[in-house]
Amino acid sequence: MKKTTAPDFLALAESQLRTTSVRATDARIKVLAALLSARYAFSHQDIQDTLVDMDRVTLYRALDSLTDAGLAHKIAGDDRVFRYNAGTEEIAHGTHHAQQHQHGHFKCTRCAKVFCIDNIDEKLLATDAKHNINPSTATLRQQLQKVLQSTLGKGFQSHEIELTIKGLCADCAAH
Ligand SMILES: [Zn+2]
Ligand SMILES: [Zn+2]
Repeated sequence: MKKTTAPDFLALAESQLRTTSVRATDARIKVLAALLSARYAFSHQDIQDTLVDMDRVTLYRALDSLTDAGLAHKIAGDDRVFRYNAGTEEIAHGTHHAQQHQHGHFKCTRCAKVFCIDNIDEKLLATDAKHNINPSTATLRQQLQKVLQSTLGKGFQSHEIELTIKGLCADCAAH
């Protein structure tokens, strides 16, 4: 477990914060740098372990402002533990042209680490502008929409797909 955060992540965190309307406070820079340097999503405890000198309340507040600013996202786990990763997840709910930038997550069932899977939306969930669904080329979104219609009937629309793949991470699979 490393004690310090590499300086280039601090610089990156600071420059990302400067592109938003939230102030680049010391705490926010350190928390964001910790998330940026993490290979997998961090729980509060993981962040606290990295930033041992930071008090709990400051850490929670910094995380909230980073999430609000879209620099980090929160992943709800089925173990009732929230984990955080740098980068935005989603989706503006309720807007007319809601951008569907969603990504999937991989959860290791042994060590409980959660990894973000990038670009899954473009590859699998992209909606084809045309409706000619060829079974072999249909995206995951189209296939699921078909299942939805045939199971629940007409009129149901899917707005988002929450995708979590469970299995063993590389470290756990190797042992
Ligand atoms: Zn694992
Ligand atoms: Zn994620």
